[in-house]
Amino acid sequence: AKQSGRATYRIFEAQMDAELQQRKALEYDLRQAVLKDELEVHYQPLIDIGKRQVAAVEALVRWRHPARGLVSPADFIPLAEETGLIVSIGEWVLETACRQVLDWQNLRVAVNLSPVQFRNRELVETVRQVLVRTGLAPERLELEITESVLINDASAALEILNGLKNLGVKIAMDDFGTGYSSLGYLNSFPFDKIKIDKSFIGDMDSKDKSGAIVKSVIGLGQSLNMVTTAEGVETPEQAEFLRQEGCDQVQGYYFSKPVTAPELSTFIERWDGARAW
Ligand code: C2E
Ligand code: CA
Ligand code: CA
Ligand code: CA
Repeated sequence: AKQSGRATYRIFEAQMDAELQQRKALEYDLRQAVLKDELEVHYQPLIDIGKRQVAAVEALVRWRHPARGLVSPADFIPLAEETGLIVSIGEWVLETACRQVLDWQNLRVAVNLSPVQFRNRELVETVRQVLVRTGLAPERLELEITESVLINDASAALEILNGLKNLGVKIAMDDFGTGYSSLGYLNSFPFDKIKIDKSFIGDMDSKDKSGAIVKSVIGLGQSLNMVTTAEGVETPEQAEFLRQEGCDQVQGYYFSKPVTAPELSTFIERWDGARAW
């Protein structure tokens, strides 16, 4: 038994080695990606339901890898966070998106912030400098954060959020409903917007409870004077339900998947609110 145990361990070790090497290779590639300009920002529209207009775009990073093709953020953001690369990648995404949105009159731009960026005391100053460099009006920038940012050190997080609010930018709570104590956070932190997680929207067709949850989150947002956005809207029925319940904005594949900047320009040109759904 001891013998085979050792053999298993050796296989395990070899596997660990392989995984570690793969990770190292990916890390090397990611550093190169930053240097070689392989990262891209794609944009997904957020539709104002009442006005039936494009209100904003969410910036979503992609990696155009020479061999692997278009790599999704789920496959490299965790590594970027572990290595700290997310700080420079995040700043690049922020500046690229702020500059890009100047092309799209009046639209706002939403940019995701990693908890790792949040741990960096320089964040407020970084955002301020990007606004100065690009000349974007602060109220056209929305920063999306998840609850995980608030958990570790709530008072430090509050200080940073207040610093960002003082710049005049908007703050959105992303993936609402997937964490632990979202309700308390809404009370203690200066959020302007709630983004209802796409898992609830996707489940609305099959589970009555999800519809009820979505309804109550919209009500909550209204009573707290926050904008509500539903993510992951894939059908006209979902959009109609959200309109009837008084949700402010919708975002999802039904309208557009995240696309390149030129493609988003075309989307805006062709957008016809009357026919939206
Ligand atoms: P997220 O912030 O919750 O972004 C929404 C994700 O849902 C995007 O995935 C988007 O493509 C996808 N999505 C949009 N509409 C639909 C729909 O109708 N159905 C479904 N099933 N999905 C939809 P994506 O682009 O793969 O990004 C995944 C996550 O990676 C993001 O989730 C965000 O947490 C992170 N991420 C993306 N870009 C950045 C970035 O620049 N910085 C940081 N820190 N994180 C980023
Ligand atoms: Ca987001
Ligand atoms: Ca989200
Ligand atoms: Ca998410």
